[in-house]
Amino acid sequence: VSRNRNPKATFFPVALLLSTILLPTTPRAGETGDIAQRYHEEAARLIGEAIVSNDAYESLEYLCDVIGHRLSGSPGLEQAVDWTADLMRRKGFSNVHEEEVMVPVWIRGEESARLTAPVERELNILGLGMSVGTPPGGIDAEVVVVESFDELDSLGAAGVRGKIVLYNQEYRGYGGTAAYRMDGPSRAAKYGAVAVLVRSVGPVSLNTPHTGTLIYDEEQPRIPAAAVTIEAATMMGRLARRGETMRAHLEMGARQLDDAPSANVIGEIPGSERPEEIVLLGGHLDSWDVGQGAQDDGVGCIIALEAAALIRRLDLAPRRTIRVVLFANEENGTRGGKAYHERHADELPRHVAAIESDLGNGAARGFRLDLRGREGEDEEELEELRDETLAAMRSIGELLELIGASGMRTGWSGVNISSIVADGVTGLGLDHDPEGYFDVHHSEADTFDKIDRGQLAKNVAAMAVMAYVLADMPGRLVQNRVAP
Ligand SMILES: [Zn+2]
Repeated sequence: VSRNRNPKATFFPVALLLSTILLPTTPRAGETGDIAQRYHEEAARLIGEAIVSNDAYESLEYLCDVIGHRLSGSPGLEQAVDWTADLMRRKGFSNVHEEEVMVPVWIRGEESARLTAPVERELNILGLGMSVGTPPGGIDAEVVVVESFDELDSLGAAGVRGKIVLYNQEYRGYGGTAAYRMDGPSRAAKYGAVAVLVRSVGPVSLNTPHTGTLIYDEEQPRIPAAAVTIEAATMMGRLARRGETMRAHLEMGARQLDDAPSANVIGEIPGSERPEEIVLLGGHLDSWDVGQGAQDDGVGCIIALEAAALIRRLDLAPRRTIRVVLFANEENGTRGGKAYHERHADELPRHVAAIESDLGNGAARGFRLDLRGREGEDEEELEELRDETLAAMRSIGELLELIGASGMRTGWSGVNISSIVADGVTGLGLDHDPEGYFDVHHSEADTFDKIDRGQLAKNVAAMAVMAYVLADMPGRLVQNRVAP
């Protein structure tokens, strides 16, 4: 069956006109099956432009090479805030502004570690974000190696007190394994450990440690914690298995200053008919203080910004507003997402969808649908709603088949939009192929050279088509619990 894809065919504008008159203003998601036909021409233009344009690649190169990494509280983040706001203005966005967010200010300081027994070895470390430092002169202590929290618990205070605990856990996917980095320090402190070393959370490290935030338990003493490379962690694991007694020296100058003002950067392509309804696109502008924050998450910010810029440049004028939000402070506090939620609480019923890109630059395979905020509703109705919504998304996905981004599934949308999604906004996550992402994540190796230009172009195209169709289609993708 061949679809008529000639936009000049007379049935097309007539169908469009009729549907505008006849369709209820908010049809159910399942009634949007003609989307692929309706938006064929616009999608072709968006994809074509994204593929031939060098804009996204150039913008990301500037953000990475000229501005560099952007930890909350650092001059780099503030420079990025001003530069991206200016970039939005230059690209014709409306209502460009910065919304203040108070962010934590954590300073790494000087840090070093070495194994002192049974052999002398320098250890390449990265202190964990939000860690306290060591006392002046550092910490000298025996190292005890565990491969799991169960093993830590079985050692208990008798095996841990006064020692440095090294977590040499196997990598079993980021979600599960990151618990050792986040909760490991306080769980060891509970048994009297004086410091923690964590095997970098990732599939490989090429002798490069990967940092990331820890989360202290208020009930436990705060002890310093640093990531070591997979190479060092597994070596110490082997030495422990030989029955060797290990000692290490750890020095960290990390400290926490008072919170400082930063900002979420916001700019819009205003809707032509229903400007009060919003499709939000975003990523987070902050990064760790190593590498360039290229994949985490400079690229997500640029995908969102350039996708909207593309829609603007092609004069597509969608019915609803497309709002780009570059969130401050995801890495060590998630304050940007929370600040947006607070400030825009009364607008949430008018958010048609929020789409986040924060899983690197692997070619998007489609989008993950996140209806977490509606859990607790009637189970059968929710199931039906999920199916209808996925069906509507798959219809949009037909427009993305050629760039391999037609796959729609349910799943987690993103950290930055999680608080508005939990409050009922429909969340979508750009479903990047994660291959390779956690190899460089939160490390010195997260740099621009790993950004594949062709994949970036496809990601911008997928984001632009999804954003445009959601902003322009006659009905909303999903009805809110509370009507707008
Ligand atoms: Zn991120």
